[in-house]
Amino acid sequence: MFSYRHAFHAGNHADVLKHTVLIATLDYLLEKDAPLTVVDTHAGAGLYRLDGDYAGTSGEAVDGVQRLFARPDASVPLADALARYVEVVRDFNPKGDARIYPGSPFITHHLLRDQDKLKLFELHPTDARSLDANIAQLDAGRQIAVLREDGFGSATKFLPPPSRRALVLCDPSYEIKSDYTRVLDFVTGALKRFATGTYAIWYPIIPRPEAHDLPRRLKTLATKAGKPWLHATLTVKSSKIVTDSSGAKHRPGLPASGMFLINPPYTLKAQLQAALPQMAELLAQDRNAAFSVDGGG
Ligand code: SAM
Repeated sequence: MFSYRHAFHAGNHADVLKHTVLIATLDYLLEKDAPLTVVDTHAGAGLYRLDGDYAGTSGEAVDGVQRLFARPDASVPLADALARYVEVVRDFNPKGDARIYPGSPFITHHLLRDQDKLKLFELHPTDARSLDANIAQLDAGRQIAVLREDGFGSATKFLPPPSRRALVLCDPSYEIKSDYTRVLDFVTGALKRFATGTYAIWYPIIPRPEAHDLPRRLKTLATKAGKPWLHATLTVKSSKIVTDSSGAKHRPGLPASGMFLINPPYTLKAQLQAALPQMAELLAQDRNAAFSVDGGG
């Protein structure tokens, strides 16, 4: 179950999409003074070295965040949401190049105010240890809780929070097929407890039926509950299996991913409509690069 390690993928195109959406959503929710609780159901290790062993093995950030740091034509301004993403990652890299990549716990903590809370779930023993050690350096006291518990099973205990304002990020690794159903069950249960929370779900767009069904099922869930939703996708390359000159077949890495939000900020659709064309252009790995932004409710 635990072969997935986010360090291999930190700062890749999927993180660019996910964390751009996370930052834009947090920026909006933090405009109000009332305390916000952020629940991160699948937190990862929190902080990653892009020049470290794991990331160096696959180097996925090279075709992700590092392309944004080394844009060929930096005179063309980035759309606000993408510029803001780069700005936040730069805050962790004061020397200029992207060597440190902040995962969702560190991005979130960076933006939160004293009155806000962060609840982090991580089940992988090694990542949980790294997360504990990374979070300890922040000296955040009771603002952050790290739980070595199943995010799907336990995260709803924090809903609704006392201030009745929360963002729930659900970002599993989808290593096992049942993760897709567990996401749907989790969001269904969470919405029953706390219908006005903002829910942000990341998923991979890969050739398997469960991956295609998930956004459709989330859309049905949101629509039946009478809640607004937003669905954004980013494709960077074809999903077709490639045959090399020796005749060996290779699966391409992750070609695309999506973010599905329930109760999104009303400002987010326009922000993503401006940012996603640039993201697709700057992160394209072949001519199949594309994006979509759709919403309703
Ligand atoms: N949200 C992180 C970020 O944006 O930086 C990345 C998370 S990574 C995609 C998914 C993480 O979920 C992995 O670190 C994995 O060990 C962890 N995980 C897998 N199943 C879990 C579960 N049931 N509950 C909590 N964590 C789990």
